[in-house]
Amino acid sequence: MDLLNTSLRQLAAALRERRISSRELASAYLDRIDGLDSRLNAFITVDPERTLKQADLADERLSQGRGEALTGIPIAHKDIFCTQGWLTTCGSKMLSNFVAPYDAHVIEKFAAAGALILGKTNMDEFAMGSSNETSFYGPVKNPWDLRKVPGGSSGGSAAAVAARLAPAATATDTGGSIRQPAALCGVSGIKPTYGLVSRYGMIAYASSLDQGGVIAPGAEDLALVLNTMVGFDARDATSIGRPAEDYTALLGQPLRGLRIGLPREYFSTGVSADVSRAIEESLAEYKRLGAVLVEVTLPHSALSVPVYYVLAPAEASSNLARYDGVRYGWRAARYGDLTDMYERTRAEGFGPEVKRRILTGTYVLSRGYYDAYYLQAQRVRRLISNDFKEAFARCDVIMGPASPTVAFNLGEKTSDPVQMYLSDIFTISVNLAGLPGLSIPAGFGSGGLPVGLQLIGNHFNEGRLLQVAHQYQQATDWHRRVPSLDRTGETA
Ligand code: GLN
Repeated sequence: MDLLNTSLRQLAAALRERRISSRELASAYLDRIDGLDSRLNAFITVDPERTLKQADLADERLSQGRGEALTGIPIAHKDIFCTQGWLTTCGSKMLSNFVAPYDAHVIEKFAAAGALILGKTNMDEFAMGSSNETSFYGPVKNPWDLRKVPGGSSGGSAAAVAARLAPAATATDTGGSIRQPAALCGVSGIKPTYGLVSRYGMIAYASSLDQGGVIAPGAEDLALVLNTMVGFDARDATSIGRPAEDYTALLGQPLRGLRIGLPREYFSTGVSADVSRAIEESLAEYKRLGAVLVEVTLPHSALSVPVYYVLAPAEASSNLARYDGVRYGWRAARYGDLTDMYERTRAEGFGPEVKRRILTGTYVLSRGYYDAYYLQAQRVRRLISNDFKEAFARCDVIMGPASPTVAFNLGEKTSDPVQMYLSDIFTISVNLAGLPGLSIPAGFGSGGLPVGLQLIGNHFNEGRLLQVAHQYQQATDWHRRVPSLDRTGETA
């Protein structure tokens, strides 16, 4: 059995039937990480001994016939989720010495299900970025071409899954950080409806937008992981209590009559020709599967990036005020009085992009500017959300590109923040409206780099979105393609 290219459902069955052991499975992935991650930099922390100890416990449970869907399956976690006893850095020097004293809600849920922690994945500092180049731990490389970015901020999770260093990985999405790196790395990623996955223990960036989700090769894998991740948690004030749903329930149903809405704004200028071509071809595939295409409009789309870059920094400036060097995290070695300690600690602990966001956020919240920027952005946020409401009166799912281009070169956009921000032009509005969004592999563009098709659903339509993705993946095999990793792009 090829342990590295088997779906989660098949792996779980093999584990339950004791055809493989969890230790065997975890070892296969740990070996692959050991062999390849020095080239990708997808992981910040791996701790094989701990992982294998968890594997032994899972094997015991499995041998007693108490295995659940994810028992014995190793899962990598974005280093934004607090994991008790593990270094939890959020990609920042500020937390480079922070060993979490508790587990995030989702980590508790995975532990209860008997899943293993495979390691902690690299990410943009405090999840701010679209290329994984703001990480204190250095950039992640795209496994399809090591000269290219993997996307961000969950670049480590996306690259790890793409290179099959992990069968699935958790991630978070504030403005596109699951869908954009999934697209650029040729894997599937889902950001659920805001409030479905608890934010407890998920280090906060912009709390009204942050949402945990998952990256894996295929939609069926996503559904299985989501079944474990989703659930009410009283410790997150925006957690939604809903009856548990089986996200695999609809997967097998055909798509006849599905109405796909194509927002005019997502198909106009700004999308590169290779991405357009791949998206058109995937839409043709959907037509063959029985879907009908309808044009819709999201007239305030162009405002999503400016609105986001007022609201997200505003929330970040407040959330990141907690890093003061007092109780945990980085503290400057030398300082005078308390104020000097704060200033030096924050000057040393945060990287330039994080500082830029804190400055912008503090500015838009300050007296005299609050009404002009923050309040105004909140109003436009509502208009963006209303656009979707109207569009969903005419269609069941919205589709378009997840990213305007395929993966770009490392270093290409680092000196131009606005160009970098525009990488999320198609993903951000989904967070502003709190909707679920998915990116799935939809072919290859220039340089043989993956293209991602974005699927957007109405609130709580995850099951439907996953069905729409899965049916496409039954008819295509883009999600099964694995980078050879010999096109290194490295000069010796
Ligand atoms: N790229 C966007 C940003 O830098 C989105 C990041 C995210 O979703 N965490 O804020």
